[in-house]
Amino acid sequence: MSDAEQRLADVQAGLDRACRDASRSETPLLVAISKTFDADAIRPLIAAGQRHFGENRVQEAAAKWPEMLGETPGITLHLVGQLQSNKAAEAVALFDVIHSVDRPSLVTALGKAQAAAGKHPACYLQVNIGNEAQKGGCALAELPALLAQARDAGLNVVGLMCVPPAAVEPAPYFALLAEHAKRLGLAGLSMGMSSDYETAALLGSTVVRVGSALFGSR
Ligand SMILES: *Cc1c(COP(=O)(O)O)cnc(C)c1O
Repeated sequence: MSDAEQRLADVQAGLDRACRDASRSETPLLVAISKTFDADAIRPLIAAGQRHFGENRVQEAAAKWPEMLGETPGITLHLVGQLQSNKAAEAVALFDVIHSVDRPSLVTALGKAQAAAGKHPACYLQVNIGNEAQKGGCALAELPALLAQARDAGLNVVGLMCVPPAAVEPAPYFALLAEHAKRLGLAGLSMGMSSDYETAALLGSTVVRVGSALFGSR
C-alpha cells in the first residue's frame, strides 16, 4: 500500500467504525481538503481512488486544479473557505459544491453568478454554531431567513455546515447543527474534520472534510 492508500484506508475505517457504532447504514462522504498542498501531494490520493477534494481559497484552487481535473475525469471539487462576493463567479465556474454560504450579500452574488453561468453548485449554509466573534457563518437566529433568501435566489441548498469552536468537545455543536438541519428539512450535514470526523459521523454527518489526517500537517 502507498502512504496515500494507507491514510485513506485509516480514515475510511474510522468512519465505518463510527457508523457501525451508531447503526448508520450510510457512511459520510469523505472530502479530502487539499489546501496548501501542491499537485505532487494530491496526485497519490487521486491514484488511490479519492475523487472528492476541497479547497478553502478560490485563487489557490484556480491555480492548481484545472490541470489535475483535465488528467482525471470524475473529480468533484468542494469550496470550504470563506467566499468573497466578488469571487462568486469564479467560484461557481470552478466548484461543484460550496460549503460556505453564510450571508445575504453572498447569496445575492451567487444567485447572479449561477444564472450567468447556467451552473448550479450544491450549496451548504454555514452556521456559526459556537457563536464566535471571529468566525464565518450565519447566526442560528438568522438561518431561516438566509435559507428562504437562498431558495428565492435559485441556490440549490442541500444542507448545513459548521466548524465548531476549537479545543472544546465538539459533540454538542454537531448535535445542535443536526437538530437545526432536521427542523429545516435539510438532509445534508457537512461536519467533521481530522480531529473529530468520527464524532461527527456518530452524530449524523453526511460529509466530512478531512485535511491533515490525509495529507499530513500543514
Ligand atoms: C482546513 C479545513 C478543513 C480540514 O481541516 P483538517 O483539520 O486539516 O482536517 C475542514 N474544513 C474547513 C472549513 C477547513 O478550512
